[in-house]
Amino acid sequence: MRTLTGRDLATAIKAQTQAEASAGPQPRLAVVVATADEASLWYVRSIAKAAAGVGVACDIVDLGADADPDRIHQTLAGLSADGAVHGVMLQTPLPAGASAQALAAAIDPRKDVDGANPLSLGRLAAGLPAFPPATAAAVMALLDHYEVLLEGRRAVVVGRSTVVGKPLAHLLLDRHATVTVCHSRTRDLASVTAGAEVLVAAVGRAGLIGAAHVAPGAVVIDVGTNPTDDGGLTGDVDFAAVSEVAGALTPVPGGVGPVTTALLLRHTARAANLP
Ligand code: NAP
Repeated sequence: MRTLTGRDLATAIKAQTQAEASAGPQPRLAVVVATADEASLWYVRSIAKAAAGVGVACDIVDLGADADPDRIHQTLAGLSADGAVHGVMLQTPLPAGASAQALAAAIDPRKDVDGANPLSLGRLAAGLPAFPPATAAAVMALLDHYEVLLEGRRAVVVGRSTVVGKPLAHLLLDRHATVTVCHSRTRDLASVTAGAEVLVAAVGRAGLIGAAHVAPGAVVIDVGTNPTDDGGLTGDVDFAAVSEVAGALTPVPGGVGPVTTALLLRHTARAANLP
């Protein structure tokens, strides 16, 4: 079984991004935060640190955990109109009553580097240029990096969120995979996933995918990030059990995660260079 780590790929993407960032005006990413969720704040700080490492400026705009939706909306609209800002991202979770999709509609699609505006998803579905969500793009980048054939192959995505599952299904379809999307109402999940040549788990349930869910030799990408009792992270895939069956599997942490951050920065550098 091959372990598909993301760290080398992330390093390569960051090196390219640094070269792109230094070729023109310094790209600037603004991350709007309205939460006290520690895991979320940790992720935002890790983006800022990675940005500094590649020459991308990163502003964390912290509105506080009790920010009201109008203020978040105005902030996103203001950043979208600000010529000095090239990428705008809205971090989740949001305060109760705030809808991520409704608010993300305030992000200019040209600055929507994490593909959160519903217009970006619509453009992606229509095969038009758009920034895909960085996580969905990271899954595709990993598959390409490890030269996984997609054309004509059976791909199953477990999870249908607008952040991961749905955009990923479109990206796989664009690459001529035969795509099935599963979700919480899917009956007999294992019988569907066991038909996959490429299986992506994007659910948020530790160990949901076991050996019985995986065909011998399948390529398995684990997007899930679930906190463990000891303060670490684990995926949606039971790594030990599935590694006995799969042909290739991404680890958590160290698989999709680092590539996601690197691609968010690459999208920002590209947004800064849009004509
Ligand atoms: P989400 O919005 O909660 O969506 C979860 C999806 O899983 C839903 O479509 C849900 O179905 C489906 N689901 C739930 N229980 C299921 C079950 N028992 N069987 C089959 N499907 C089931 O989550 P998300 O934002 O897409 O994130 C998914 C995971 O990816 C989380 O662990 C998240 O932390 C992780 N993530 C990682 C990165 C990264 O960079 N590595 C980035 C983003 C997210 P319904 O639609 O029917 O409810």
